[in-house]
Amino acid sequence: MDEMRYQMDLLKAMNQNLNRKERMYRLICDSVDNAFLYYAFDRDEVVTLGKWDAFFDFEVTGIKDIPNLFDAVEESYIMPLRDALFVEKTNQEKACVECLLKDRRNWLKFVVNVFYDEKHQPTDKVVCIENISKLKSQNDELEYMAYYDGLTGLYNRNYFVRLLGEFLRKAETEKCIVSVILIDMDDFKKINDGLGIVVGDELVQQFGSYLKEFQSEQVIVCHMSSDVYCMAVYDPVGSRSVEHIHKQIQKRTGEPFALSSGQSLQITVSMGVAEYPEASTSALELINCAEIVMFKGKGMGKNTIQYFDTPILNEFIHTVEIENKLREAVFQNNFIMYFQPQYFTESRRLRGMEALVRWKDEENHMISPATFIPIAEKNGAIIPIGNWVVEQSIRQYAQWSEQYGVHFIMSINISALQYGRDNFVPFILGLLEKYKVSPSQIELEITESILINDFEGVSAKLRQLRDCGIRISLDDFGTGFSSLSYLKKLPINTLKIDKSFIDTVLTDSSTRIITESIINMVKTLGFESIAEGVEQEEQLAYLRRAGCDVIQGYLLGKPQSPEEIAALLQGL
Ligand code: C2E
Ligand code: CA
Ligand code: CA
Repeated sequence: MDEMRYQMDLLKAMNQNLNRKERMYRLICDSVDNAFLYYAFDRDEVVTLGKWDAFFDFEVTGIKDIPNLFDAVEESYIMPLRDALFVEKTNQEKACVECLLKDRRNWLKFVVNVFYDEKHQPTDKVVCIENISKLKSQNDELEYMAYYDGLTGLYNRNYFVRLLGEFLRKAETEKCIVSVILIDMDDFKKINDGLGIVVGDELVQQFGSYLKEFQSEQVIVCHMSSDVYCMAVYDPVGSRSVEHIHKQIQKRTGEPFALSSGQSLQITVSMGVAEYPEASTSALELINCAEIVMFKGKGMGKNTIQYFDTPILNEFIHTVEIENKLREAVFQNNFIMYFQPQYFTESRRLRGMEALVRWKDEENHMISPATFIPIAEKNGAIIPIGNWVVEQSIRQYAQWSEQYGVHFIMSINISALQYGRDNFVPFILGLLEKYKVSPSQIELEITESILINDFEGVSAKLRQLRDCGIRISLDDFGTGFSSLSYLKKLPINTLKIDKSFIDTVLTDSSTRIITESIINMVKTLGFESIAEGVEQEEQLAYLRRAGCDVIQGYLLGKPQSPEEIAALLQGL
């Protein structure tokens, strides 16, 4: 009897112990946010634990209820889930799968562990189910940030480059063209500075949404930076041809954008186009090429579209090379002055010299000023070069006039940027003083381009110079906006008829009519006329008959080194 009681007590104690353990495991399972499913192979028994009810509105009490789980997930996840839940079929111990539920919002992660006995027969299976929706949405956001631009919702630059790369790989196999179109708003800085960045951002965003409408399987659009967008078009034909896209954009920018502030703004855009494989086979280079031509277009005026071709690339490389060399040249003072004589037409007496700068690069190549002056004007190098030219010419004149006892006019080319500097007048006067040169011996050659923006202001400054006795000459007349009517308002002494007239004056009767009317007009106004680029005796004879005062050109003398000019002056 005692023995029996003892056995009963023992059983009770063991039972209590078991209950306590079960309670402990249950509590552990309940205190996490997961649901569990346990399966015992030998008994074919299924138990659900943890937060099962928070996950599913059905019970699973046996294998027969498992299809309920498949019903809960999106169709495309059923197969992966089945493979994971029955992972023992492939003799594996573990599987993991993430499934989107039918509500298309929640994500569940199933981690399946199968335990085996020593004969490698499965004994138990534990499935842990976790809600990973929050994690997923954070990931989505990170992914969004990695691929998209927050302001416009368009692809960002990095992702665009990747997608463009995919286009190019596909185009290589399919032998197709891919067009890259860079789109840049004109005068965006003015809008941003003038109306504020909030307005600027809204405009960028609105125009971006418009461009997004082009997006398709064959067209990708991205927001590169600030007011710059880029499009890549696979096989650009028909409604996605570059011409058509350009027309559409022009149509849209023809209408104003209505901003939330009530303002309405109209914009224009400049576009640059580069094509695979013609321009390049690399994504980054294509974007670069499109950018180069876009800027080239902008330089020629706004609201343009420019297409990339090989000569443009060569020209660009050439410009960059010259620009780099030019920086060094300015630093090392690699310039020399040449002088070209000018003669009175009637008497053939020396009237003056035009100072023309020459640049010998380190390999002793002469680089023409026609090439480097425009570049120097763009990057500002013209200021140190121009200042050096002015001083060198005045110094040279002082030396020659003292050494040879001659007087003539030293004509110096002045670029618009140089002329626009505040200290320009005092700078010239200071040099005349320094080298003891009379202002009347110096002539400044300016072109009409300096008058375009501020006719009144520039004329006033010219008057100031002329009042000091310095001569002013209008260079390249006939190539700019050349209107004879403004001439009388300008305080100039001399007008140089451009070489292009002289070139055709013998062969073209309308050139003759214009040339003669220029010469007569100049005479009436009391100026002096100089013909440049005179190469033939016949041209000279004609110009004398027409009454042109001065001749400059290869016929009577090329631009020459100071040594050659010294010899010429000595012989006078
Ligand atoms: P430009 O002021 O019209 O100078 C006249 C150009 O015509 C010079 O070219 C001269 O060598 C060239 N030339 C003169 N006679 C003849 C001729 O009979 N036949 C031909 N084919 N050409 C002739 P260059 O020296 O190459 O200068 C080109 C341009 O570079 C100049 O045109 C001027 O705009 C600019 N430049 C030259 N030196 C300077 C300078 O010191 N400062 C500035 N700002 N510009 C300069
Ligand atoms: Ca000149
Ligand atoms: Ca000229």
